[in-house]
Amino acid sequence: MTQIGHFISNQQQVGTSGREQPVFNPATGQSENSVALASVEEVNTAVAAAKEAWPAWSKTPPLRRARILDKFKTILWERADELAEIISSEHGKVHDDAVGEVTRGLEVVEFAVGAPTFLKGEFSENVGSDVDSHSIRQSLGVVAGITPFNFPAMVPMWMFPVALACGNTFILKPSERDPSASLKMAEWLKEAGLPDGVFNVVQGDKEAVDALLDHQDVKAISFVGSTPIAQYIHQRGTANGKRVQALGGAKNHMVIMPDADLDMATNALMGAAFGSAGERCMAISVAVPVTDQVADALIEKLVPKIEALKIGPATDKASEMGPLITKEHMEKVKGYIDSGEQEGAKIITDGRSFRQEKQGYENGFYVGGTLIDQVSPEMKIWKEEIFGPVLSIVRRQSYKDAVDLIHSCEYANGTAVFTRDGDTARAFSQDIEVGMVGVNVPIPVPMAFHSFGGWKASIFGDHHMHGMEGVRFFTRIKTTTTRWPSGQRDDPQFSMPTLG
Ligand code: NAD
Repeated sequence: MTQIGHFISNQQQVGTSGREQPVFNPATGQSENSVALASVEEVNTAVAAAKEAWPAWSKTPPLRRARILDKFKTILWERADELAEIISSEHGKVHDDAVGEVTRGLEVVEFAVGAPTFLKGEFSENVGSDVDSHSIRQSLGVVAGITPFNFPAMVPMWMFPVALACGNTFILKPSERDPSASLKMAEWLKEAGLPDGVFNVVQGDKEAVDALLDHQDVKAISFVGSTPIAQYIHQRGTANGKRVQALGGAKNHMVIMPDADLDMATNALMGAAFGSAGERCMAISVAVPVTDQVADALIEKLVPKIEALKIGPATDKASEMGPLITKEHMEKVKGYIDSGEQEGAKIITDGRSFRQEKQGYENGFYVGGTLIDQVSPEMKIWKEEIFGPVLSIVRRQSYKDAVDLIHSCEYANGTAVFTRDGDTARAFSQDIEVGMVGVNVPIPVPMAFHSFGGWKASIFGDHHMHGMEGVRFFTRIKTTTTRWPSGQRDDPQFSMPTLG
């Protein structure tokens, strides 16, 4: 078994904690590698390296920092397939989906290359007589990113390109379930010219995360993962005086109005519910057809498409949907389908019975596309995030009831409405209490120059990721007010200075 280790001060480091865990290829169900799980001392070594690198990096001209990121971007473009293969081998997603993930991450690098523009600051001449003021955004110091398994390249790239462009140094603690993409990106950042210690990877589990949360030299924590852990990270990080943004889980609804283009809605649902085997925080897991007539017509269109889904390993280019991340997660998803059935929902297509017949892949962690009708808000399968290829249908008889359903959900990451009516679309996008909204767009993931984030239990903290929100998160503002002796002189003044 080969050990996947850390990357500190631009060097691969073998784990020394004596703790490690297997990393699986979900398509085969086999494990050939293990990942090192860092001790507190290993985390401290990485933080010390990042701390040492920060003064020089923060004072490096933004244009020079941007040029290094620009070179990294070119490497990503040229080697997207290589990174995609690494992602697929540990995550299981199909190749084109993995390339899509790399591309969406790369777009944040493209945004970060604009740092000289977005760090320009503001200047006001004559805020008082002969007095000028300017405001600048400065880096925080050592910052850390803690990321989930489902986007092992894109989610880290929501964070580190912006953090580095702003002059911070970075520790990435990727998911222990698919740790290799982070090391490849670290190697390529080094190749692009990033100085030692500016970007570091520490592999690990709760022990490494807690060490980062408690370390006084870590100034900010950017987290993406499940809601209970996001809440924990936010509480412990802020209690330790850190700035924290913690994005959590999701349950995303798509409303299909009677006037919607049903073929368009059906195809959109197929990709949004079953792409990446439903392991996306922006997956649509609940379809909300308005009226029974729409529900029946939708099901009729969905069923043959779900039955025709090509489920297989990423090595087969024809595969449309891969396996789930682990055996435990596969069992959990099947358990949710059992629970829906027990609570009285109607299983229309049943992914529990799917068997992978391709030779060598029989033991992979596959679940087939599952469609469940007659789901109601009292059921566990509606209340909880399933994170698998399971699409629930909650029938509603009016637009208002559909909106009320969405508002009663604890999560508020993404949502969509399919309609041809401008009034409905405008009302939905204005009034819905969800962070990211699509109108005839099923997965409304904002582009890099906008910002990504949900509301309610889908986020803890104030800042969304990337775009200008990312810049605000990874910088703090300083305002300097200046007067020179040649200007007007005042007598001593004991009242609050005003313009008068
Ligand atoms: P997870 O919460 O289990 O793990 C995320 C990170 O937290 C990992 O790095 C993990 O090592 C660490 N971690 C896990 N348990 C911990 C603990 N007890 N203490 C400290 N650290 C701990 O999430 P996951 O299963 O890797 O990812 C799937 C989840 O992420 C889903 O809920 C999904 O919706 C969510 N997600 C959200 C977004 C978003 O933008 N809102 C994006 C992607 C994924």
